[in-house]
Amino acid sequence: KKSLLQYLKLFLLLGLGRVTTMHVAKQDVPASLVTLPLDGHFSFHDLSTAARDFGNLSSSPPVAVLHPGSVADIAITVRHVFLMGHHSTLTVAARGHGHSLYGQSQAAGGIVIRMESLRSVRMQVHPGASPYVDASGGELWINVLDETLKYRLAPKSWTDYLHLTVGGTLSNAGVSGQTFRHGPQISNVNEMEIVTGRGDVVTCSPEQNSDLFHAALGGLGQFGIITRARIALEPAPQMVRWIRVLYLDFTSFTEDQEMLLSAEKTFDYIEGFVIINREGILNNWRSSFNPQDPVRASQFEPDEEVLFCLEMTKNFNPEEADTMEQEVNALLSQLRYTPPSLFHTDVTYMEFLDRVHYSEMKLRAKGMWEVPHPWLNLIIPRSTIHKFAREVFGKILKDNNNGPILLYPVSRSRWDNRTSVVIPDEEIFYLVGFLSSALGPQSVEHTLNLNMQIIEFSNKASIGVKQYLPNYTTEPEWKAHYGARWDTFQQRKTTYDPLAILAPGQRIFQKAS
Ligand code: FAD
Repeated sequence: KKSLLQYLKLFLLLGLGRVTTMHVAKQDVPASLVTLPLDGHFSFHDLSTAARDFGNLSSSPPVAVLHPGSVADIAITVRHVFLMGHHSTLTVAARGHGHSLYGQSQAAGGIVIRMESLRSVRMQVHPGASPYVDASGGELWINVLDETLKYRLAPKSWTDYLHLTVGGTLSNAGVSGQTFRHGPQISNVNEMEIVTGRGDVVTCSPEQNSDLFHAALGGLGQFGIITRARIALEPAPQMVRWIRVLYLDFTSFTEDQEMLLSAEKTFDYIEGFVIINREGILNNWRSSFNPQDPVRASQFEPDEEVLFCLEMTKNFNPEEADTMEQEVNALLSQLRYTPPSLFHTDVTYMEFLDRVHYSEMKLRAKGMWEVPHPWLNLIIPRSTIHKFAREVFGKILKDNNNGPILLYPVSRSRWDNRTSVVIPDEEIFYLVGFLSSALGPQSVEHTLNLNMQIIEFSNKASIGVKQYLPNYTTEPEWKAHYGARWDTFQQRKTTYDPLAILAPGQRIFQKAS
């Protein structure tokens, strides 16, 4: 048995051990970092938040976190690391809201820039014939919505969840049910201010420094840190008619989605979900939606293991409610959903756009938000989506109790092929998201294994998938992801971040030392 003295020694040893670790970490940070003339400050302690993300699957602590007080702070820091050249292994990651899945906003042993601290770039709404808002790269989309609604304006293109930053989603694409009409968020930006990997502050747009502008959009943070973005706005509706219907077969579900996509007068938002082996789905909807036909809805018990939910919205102002009803009914009459499953509700525009946050609050209360999220997001060409669906829904995946599966089409014509994002070479392609939550290590392993099976099947069957929010670890994988565009991607990296300082958590380029 250990004596009290032995315990005391052990305690002191552990305590000293911790001090020593901190001391070593501090020494690793070049002393010069502390002397940089900043408006904000570095922190060298309490780095654990910067080593975590929403995915909860990987954790790499930085040596320092920069809380920038100005854009100059970001430029000075990046320039400083750049000038150290190959003598230093330091890298720099901009961290938006840390909602990456596999460590993309982390910088192992490097500097993490907490973009949400960048308050010097004030949000400014510019009403007028072509309205826009200037927002900081570290601004949350929910704040952009809040501010623009004061002018009865709002951005045109969204993500399903608004507690993400402007710079974070623009580094990916930013997709949701409005993408079919307006393109992804990266198709709705007029101008950006960017700090490159050399520490230069550059204003860019389709007319000015256009190569950097396009490189950074969907560029996974590889070419610069977005400090400001000018986002196109449109008049905001006050209300939204939010509709859900169910399909029993994939063909009529996707044919209807595609018909709505190309219809001249159509919905404002179109998404879809795959529902595998979930009983009482209509009962679940009742808490927030109203059935059109309550009696038939209560009797609805389909035999099919796999169902498909089409979700749509129509924007309106209260005085236009009758016209909205007529338009919605005309559109619904062209669809082949199963009639008892027609549900709808009317909510404010804010309530609709911020809908995932309501789920977040419920999940947080149950301790089910901060769990691992082994998500898989895919982009699949229209020509192979049926082959994919036949194998994956019901065969590889026998249920989706771990989280929603999204599936909806978008049009390539709304995407700009000069940006860095990779999309299939077909006019219509599908966004498919397996948004799993894993409760416990076995569940993580099980879900990652299913993800692997889906990818392996897709590769073998030549489905032509691309990953959205890509997660690769080797150069051959990244080369295959970018395909013919790899050379351009690499060339842009050499131009804007030649030492590979930026966004190391994407694991595309390694800083040479
Ligand atoms: P971070 O995760 O912090 O950063 C993402 C990457 O961008 C990192 O490599 C980082 O270094 C880099 N980066 C961050 N800020 C900047 C900047 N200012 N300049 C340059 N690089 C930067 N995506 C969709 O498209 N549609 C959705 O509907 C959608 N829904 C989501 C719902 C939830 C609940 C979650 C967790 C994510 C969702 N996403 C969606 C994914 C989201 O777009 C990504 O997670 C994205 O990374 C945004 O998160 P963030 O702002 O926290 O950025």
